[in-house]
Amino acid sequence: MYCVSACLLGVKCKYDGGDNELPQLKELLAQGKALPVCPEQLGGLTTPRDAAEICGGSGGDVLLGQARVLTRAGRDVTREFIRGAQEVVRLCEIAGVSWAILKENSPSCGVSFIYDGSFQGRRIKGEGVTAALLRQKGIRIYNEKSWEKSSVFP
Ligand code: SF4
Repeated sequence: MYCVSACLLGVKCKYDGGDNELPQLKELLAQGKALPVCPEQLGGLTTPRDAAEICGGSGGDVLLGQARVLTRAGRDVTREFIRGAQEVVRLCEIAGVSWAILKENSPSCGVSFIYDGSFQGRRIKGEGVTAALLRQKGIRIYNEKSWEKSSVFP
C-alpha cells in the first residue's frame, strides 16, 4: 500500500480547488494499492483555501517549532499543517504503509523542493511538513516523478 497525495489521484483538494491528476497513479488506485491523503484537509483547512508557504525554514524546522507556515494574507496555519501531518502518519500506521508518493513543491507534501516563503514563485531545497514527519517515521518518500524510477517499489 502506498500513501499518495490525494491531488495526484484526481481529488480536487488543491488550495485553488483543482487537482494534479496523473494517470499512472490513478492506476495504482484502481489496483487498490493507493491510500489517498490530503494533509491540509486532514489538518482542518478548507478547499479552496489561501495559498500557504513555509517561512523561515523547511518542514523539519516547522516540526521543531523553528519555522512557521503562513498564508499569503499572513494567517498562521502552522498548527493545521502539523495536525495534518500527524493525521497522515496515523493513517499510514493503520494501513501499514511503507512508501509515500507526494506532490513536489507543496508546503505539506514537497519531497525535495518547497517555495521560499516570499510568495514570489521561488523554489528552494527542502521538504514539506508532512514529508518531513513521514521521513522521520521511517516511511520512504518519493515525488510524482521519482517513484517510477525507484527499484524499491514492489
Ligand atoms: Fe495535494 Fe498535498 Fe496539497 Fe493536499 S496538501 S492538495 S495532497 S499537495
